[in-house]
Amino acid sequence: MKTECNPDLKIFSNYIGGTWINASSQKVFENINPSDTDEILGIFPRSQKEDLDTAVTSARKAYPSWKAMPPADRAKILYQAAKIMESRKKELATVISKENGKTVAGAMGDVQSGIDMAYYVAGEARRWFGNTAHSGLRKRFAMTKRYPIGVVGIITSWNFPMAITCWKTFPALICGNAVILKSEENTPETAYHFTKILEEAGLPAGVLNLLHGFGVEIGEAMTLHEGIDMISFTGSSTVGKLIAKNCTGRLAKISLELGGKNAVIVMDDADVDLAVDGIICGAFSISGQRCTATGRAIIHEKIYDECIEKLIARAERQKVGPGNDASSDITPLISKKQFDRVLGYIERAKQMGAKTLTGGQPLRGGIYDKGFYIAPTILDSVTPDMEIMRDEVFGPVLTVSKVSSYEQSVALHNDCPYGLSASLFTKDINKAFAFFDDIEAGVCYINAPTFGSEPHMPFGGVKNSGLGYREAGWGGIEAFSEIKTLYVDYSAKIQNVQFEKN
Ligand code: NAD
Repeated sequence: MKTECNPDLKIFSNYIGGTWINASSQKVFENINPSDTDEILGIFPRSQKEDLDTAVTSARKAYPSWKAMPPADRAKILYQAAKIMESRKKELATVISKENGKTVAGAMGDVQSGIDMAYYVAGEARRWFGNTAHSGLRKRFAMTKRYPIGVVGIITSWNFPMAITCWKTFPALICGNAVILKSEENTPETAYHFTKILEEAGLPAGVLNLLHGFGVEIGEAMTLHEGIDMISFTGSSTVGKLIAKNCTGRLAKISLELGGKNAVIVMDDADVDLAVDGIICGAFSISGQRCTATGRAIIHEKIYDECIEKLIARAERQKVGPGNDASSDITPLISKKQFDRVLGYIERAKQMGAKTLTGGQPLRGGIYDKGFYIAPTILDSVTPDMEIMRDEVFGPVLTVSKVSSYEQSVALHNDCPYGLSASLFTKDINKAFAFFDDIEAGVCYINAPTFGSEPHMPFGGVKNSGLGYREAGWGGIEAFSEIKTLYVDYSAKIQNVQFEKN
């Protein structure tokens, strides 16, 4: 039986070899709206190893002719996909808002980021350059050329379900790889629409294969499958470490975009209102569920009291509400699991001596009883050794720390296992540039929040925040290719560097 998507039942299927196909087992899972858990959005298959084997066979079959297609022709399909996405932006954003919980306006940004990546990547297709070099020998030509890797497995996160899927899949495709995409189990419908768009754009059968299912089942099986040459992953550092172990054990390539514990540093010369704005939206928008969310504010003692007063006032004015209410400043957490996890962090922090300046509890009554809503929370009296200062919470929780110098703020920032993004608010140009040298983070901002990335600029972190390649930018395209080193000898004799030197 083949089902694409039954609009009444909203039953979804996998996409393998250009066909919408049911999974091998009857196991399924429900996709629910985190703003209102009474709403079941669809039923998705829990794919098993047999489904993965079929997808790998299909991808390997499609790979040679996709690889052989000139990159500029592959780009035409991505341009077409971008145009379809543009024409359906609002519809796609509404799907994302329902299954992810963010507002439609917020989800429009997610879709736009995907569109931008399609155009950027397609435009780079004619600039997929190698290098030429003068050989150490006479009459010899030396150059490099890039080739695809093979079959790439893509495992994503739910927080930007369209953007992250596009940021990985488009570069992988433009380089000529075949792809197996595992949808994220909290946002599988976005992956369905993404795949449908590429099908409509004319992507040949088998080049993109979509599997729905659970990370611990189908995700892990992908990392261990010998038919998959590379895993590109966005998710937690805990799962990232498992994937690294599985992939490096069989020498598969990896690119891991992982968690963050990002800080804003506010110096005594900063524009305090601007800094407060930056901290509030970095810490609390989409309930702090960004890898680049602001988890820590490190504030100079001279402006500390003013900053704290304004932060508390602003946090308490934030409107917490469902994704379908355009006036919501803060939307729900993605799942019960995440809701319990965040409350657990707050509780343990309090037991260790942290004090709650505001928030710290779930919201109750009305729509709040139907979703996963937590009040924006600010904690002080925290020390660098506390779990709340070292772990990524992935919720609307901010710690505040007082420092007496720039040097102390940098030391406190760097005393953390993560290094994704960091921000400094200051008017001192010398401190701004010193910050770039001193701070242990992959993305650094001056006078801006800890988030905001552009498709042509590399994105990724150091320490526990990532491994392998940067995403986006030119490097994000190169990540999905291998270099070949090529020599042409036109001397008409057998020569090599070693012989010549002897
Ligand atoms: P997660 O690691 O639990 O899940 C992410 C993905 O991994 C999901 O698709 C899941 O199905 C899959 N997965 C789970 N267990 C697996 C396993 N054993 N083998 C293979 N795949 C498995 O992450 P999460 O908590 O759902 O997502 C939030 C995390 O993602 C945060 O840590 C956040 O910082 C991170 N993130 C990072 C970036 C970035 O670019 N650095 C962007 C967005 C989110």
